[in-house]
Amino acid sequence: MPSTFAHDGTPSPRQHLTTMVLDDVVSFDAGTLAMACTDEQRAGIRDIVITHAHLDHIAGLPLFIDDLFSTLQEPVRIHASEIVISLLEKHIFNWSIYPRFSELRNENGPVMEYVPFQAGREFAVRHLRVLPVEVNHKVPSCGFIVSDGRTTIAMTGDTAETGNFWNCVNGLEAVNAVLVECAFPDGLADLAGISYHLTPSGLARELEKLERTDCEIFVVNIKPSYRDEIVSQIGSLDRRPINILEVGRIYEW
Ligand SMILES: [Zn+2]
Repeated sequence: MPSTFAHDGTPSPRQHLTTMVLDDVVSFDAGTLAMACTDEQRAGIRDIVITHAHLDHIAGLPLFIDDLFSTLQEPVRIHASEIVISLLEKHIFNWSIYPRFSELRNENGPVMEYVPFQAGREFAVRHLRVLPVEVNHKVPSCGFIVSDGRTTIAMTGDTAETGNFWNCVNGLEAVNAVLVECAFPDGLADLAGISYHLTPSGLARELEKLERTDCEIFVVNIKPSYRDEIVSQIGSLDRRPINILEVGRIYEW
């Protein structure tokens, strides 16, 4: 979903916030969810799956629930690990930054509900099966392997070098697309290291671990200030094709 706009109002490829919506009903992260979703998506999305609690992944979450508060017929379900739920309650929905929606009701009932998941344990969300896989970020964070029974995609979320995620992806029957982060250019490898992100060189090392060739590869989570440099460095990698996930585009697999 777009989060950042060019001077003429069209979505900019330089993205500050992360949100991906699957089949118009399940959102993965909610960085820009309230601001960028269509009316149909606002009416249809009641499940939000969170990788981790960093602001660029959750900034639109309180506002999304706020918009819907009086009209909800069922709660918005936040699927997250226990630690992420505790961080959201402590730092966001704490009555100081925003209302504690988990304690509030409208005339139809609760407006928000936490649905905790455990890494390594697959769970159902609407028509999707979701396997959370712990990755290697500065804070507790999960990537996801998501399937509707026909199509499977894997997304790392924010991570530095990791192993388990690739083991899981390699063990799947089929994978249509893998979304991998790459936040910083190679010149900022030290910053990438202390913030637990990848650079293009790190991305290349991660993709060495991907043993399958049946999936398309897309790069996500590119820091907007360094986008041109990162995209150029990724283009110089001597590897199989690596796509940059386009903002605002509908992908079908
Ligand atoms: Zn992060």
